[in-house]
Amino acid sequence: MTYQPASDRYDLMIYRRCGRSGLSLPAISLGLWHNFGHDTPHDTKKEICRTAFDLGITHFDLANNYGPPPGSAEEAFGEILRTDFAGHRDELIISSKAGYDMWPGPYGEWGSRKYLIASCDQSLKRMGLDYVDIFYSHRFDPETPLEETMGALDQIVRSGKALYAGISSYNTQRTREAAAILNDLGTPCLIHQPSYNMLNRWIEEDGLTDSLDELGIGSIAFTPLAQGLLTGKYLNGIPEGSRATQDKSLSADWLTPDVIERLNGLNDIAAARGQTLAQMAIAWVLREGRITTALIGASRAGQVEDCVGAIGNLAFSDAELGQIDTLCKA
Ligand code: NDP
Repeated sequence: MTYQPASDRYDLMIYRRCGRSGLSLPAISLGLWHNFGHDTPHDTKKEICRTAFDLGITHFDLANNYGPPPGSAEEAFGEILRTDFAGHRDELIISSKAGYDMWPGPYGEWGSRKYLIASCDQSLKRMGLDYVDIFYSHRFDPETPLEETMGALDQIVRSGKALYAGISSYNTQRTREAAAILNDLGTPCLIHQPSYNMLNRWIEEDGLTDSLDELGIGSIAFTPLAQGLLTGKYLNGIPEGSRATQDKSLSADWLTPDVIERLNGLNDIAAARGQTLAQMAIAWVLREGRITTALIGASRAGQVEDCVGAIGNLAFSDAELGQIDTLCKA
């Protein structure tokens, strides 16, 4: 059946300005790292994207290597753009990245001009797009002059293949250097994409959050649910079909009895707030408004619905924050 987006799709979602740019992003964005490769039925992918858009999620995050196999998530999303979102391109913020291993040989990863520009062209072809909204350097390359990597981002924007430039997982020092180069080139850094959740606070410890505020760069926190740990999924062990049972990025070894006990403690705090654990984890990332958007993943449409419920309560008392710190940091 032809998909018609929900007419009330902009009523619930909160949109937040991305740094000091003109662009607003939904408080919750959808990433296509897992669950959009050949291992997932196309109808499931379609349902996840439709549900997201119906709930006001306008931002879809991809990368050249998302799959498996690498490239297949962009192909699947390109198909969904054609069949479902045709006519809505101007309502969407679509991002892609290059940095990790994509094709054999010396030009298929890291941060050279050769790799970034070729990879962006490939991503556009796979998605059937003229441009992406944001193109990222996916990781800092210690072997390539930063001027070259940032110069490639600038060229990608100037040639109309992307509207904005971003960086991912750069530490504070490299972020400052990258931002200065991009400013000099006249293509300011729009956004930084770091990992961040209750269990992983490196951006606070490294001073990245403060630096991004100062530099006027927005932020999109990836793995806000710690790949599913910070949801109700693992409270009683490891359910069949979950990411921890698959040969992916979440090891079942992380789910020790101590971790499961802490997750149950966090779940009690969430329940007292009237939230699921997933909702509280997302609200925690979005608290105080310093992170522009939480970048979730989902294996089912129902998970997107649950996650979007987070925006109903983004405020935390000092007591709640203290209890969360005790359970997460000790
Ligand atoms: P999350 O931390 O949001 O974990 C997503 C997983 O959590 C889902 O696959 C699902 O697990 C589970 N989940 C989600 N919602 C619920 C819910 N409501 N109830 C129960 N379980 C739930 O993020 P991801 O690790 O998927 O990463 C998100 C995105 O971040 C990626 O798609 C990508 O765009 C980006 N990213 C960027 C990186 C970078 O280097 N820049 C690196 C990693 C990610 P299950 O599959 O078990 O059902």
